[in-house]
Amino acid sequence: MLDKPQTKSMLDTPVAERMPREIAPGVFWIGDCLAQRHKGKVYHGYNAAYLVAGNDASILVETGHPKDFPVIERHMNELFARGVAPLKYLFVTHQETPHCGGLGRILKTFPESFLVGDVSDYHLAFPQYEHRMRAMNEGDEIDLGGRSFMAVEPVIRDLRTTWWGFDTKERVLFPGDGFAYSHYHEDGHCGLIAEEAVSLDLPDVSSTFADLALFWTKFADMNVYCDRLDHLIARLDVKVIGPTHGLPITDVATTVPKVQAGLKAAALMPETGTNEKVAAA
Ligand SMILES: [Zn+2]
Ligand SMILES: [Zn+2]
Repeated sequence: MLDKPQTKSMLDTPVAERMPREIAPGVFWIGDCLAQRHKGKVYHGYNAAYLVAGNDASILVETGHPKDFPVIERHMNELFARGVAPLKYLFVTHQETPHCGGLGRILKTFPESFLVGDVSDYHLAFPQYEHRMRAMNEGDEIDLGGRSFMAVEPVIRDLRTTWWGFDTKERVLFPGDGFAYSHYHEDGHCGLIAEEAVSLDLPDVSSTFADLALFWTKFADMNVYCDRLDHLIARLDVKVIGPTHGLPITDVATTVPKVQAGLKAAALMPETGTNEKVAAA
């Protein structure tokens, strides 16, 4: 929509200059990484946000981690300065800090914006913005001008109140905690899409993330969930995936099975608990 997507030269681009990144026309990946230590390795995770720009209005999907607000705000302002339509909506997949931790600051900074999606309990934290909250259900669409944003079935989630989002124009799925996996800063993965990060072992990092963050996957038949995911992807004809914690996926047919292999593998391993604290004696 603005410049051409910058997929070709990204590997030669310094990490700091890779974001905001247009992963599909009018769909911008923004935000920053979060470093976490696990099993002696430094894993980087994203708590990404995405700006979807229509002709008349833009919607922000997720707000990033609370620490990321200055970066998210700067990236958005860069895009608005380049002519992207003003922010009218904020959609968060669910009420967890890495997804909605900037919600109050977004609503304060953009006084014309509305919060949409599942809006349970937000009015208790932010009563001053209650009149700007609109509940969405599955299939509800918001018109942005030339494209719309739809709430869709959240197949893999950690809260019952979760909705996933979908851009009807470029067929981009925003699956929140689905397709969650870490990446390695040392290997230069930051700001790359999944298919560019060729040294990233997707089944391995997907299974690690499921182990740490989606404990219920230990007790469910993940074949059923992966089949349901395939069904959703086929039904919506998904072309691009913008996960909150993983790298964006632009080759759905090739990359999705690798993430699913990680989910299925993690389901067969005993739970290791949360982030390591002290080495066991
Ligand atoms: Zn999450
Ligand atoms: Zn990183």
